[in-house]
Amino acid sequence: MNVESCLLPEKDIDLSNIKRLGLMGGTFDPIHQGHLVTAEAVRTSFSLDKVIFVPSGQPPHKVEKKVTPKDKRFLMTELATITNPCFEVSRVEINRLGYSYSADTVSYFRQMMDQDGELFFITGADAILEILTWKGIDELFADCTFIAATRPGFQNQAMAERLGAQLKPEYLKKIITIEVPAMAISSTDIRSRVARGRSIKYLLPETVEQYIYKQGLYKP
Ligand code: ATP
Ligand code: MG
Repeated sequence: MNVESCLLPEKDIDLSNIKRLGLMGGTFDPIHQGHLVTAEAVRTSFSLDKVIFVPSGQPPHKVEKKVTPKDKRFLMTELATITNPCFEVSRVEINRLGYSYSADTVSYFRQMMDQDGELFFITGADAILEILTWKGIDELFADCTFIAATRPGFQNQAMAERLGAQLKPEYLKKIITIEVPAMAISSTDIRSRVARGRSIKYLLPETVEQYIYKQGLYKP
């Protein structure tokens, strides 16, 4: 546990006048064009005022995997989003002790927003299929609408059927799917390319690429 990072206050994100807010959670190890293109597509399609990226502190579903220290993942997310005035990065999960749960994060932003504000949680289709394993599912559906971006290789119909079999109908209504430009990019693939000495150019912003090399991340 990095004690210093836990002591840093949550960055001051101004939510005044924000009526429609998007949240995008992830490990972002590293953040890539798939995340950025998806967030921008959702922002414009759903007229969101802002999208806040929330890098996870300790992801409960990745305990066995080696994850890059959270402050480095936070910094990469900052570097990637800095050129978009509608994008912000939150430290809320980074600063939280213990596992990061989306339900806690969503309720944190819900409380910071005006009563009449609307919250949208942006995920990839792969992540939405795991939704039943998430903690606090009832609170999550009470607080926000899910926007599930379809990822290459994912069948919308198959996803709808699987979710339909598992979720209450009132919850299903709060999941909207959106097709984003086909982007078969994943952090796993980028890490593996770096480890094998392959190029990662154009898969992620150049600043993040340079940071990865400078820090020697993802070497075998
Ligand atoms: P990993 O391969 O390590 O799991 P990842 O590329 O899936 O990484 P995450 O940080 O796990 O990235 O994902 C954060 C969110 O972004 C999740 O909701 C995931 O479904 C979504 N996502 C990841 N890659 C894409 C992509 N190429 N297009 C759309 N959404 C994506
Ligand atoms: Mg993933």
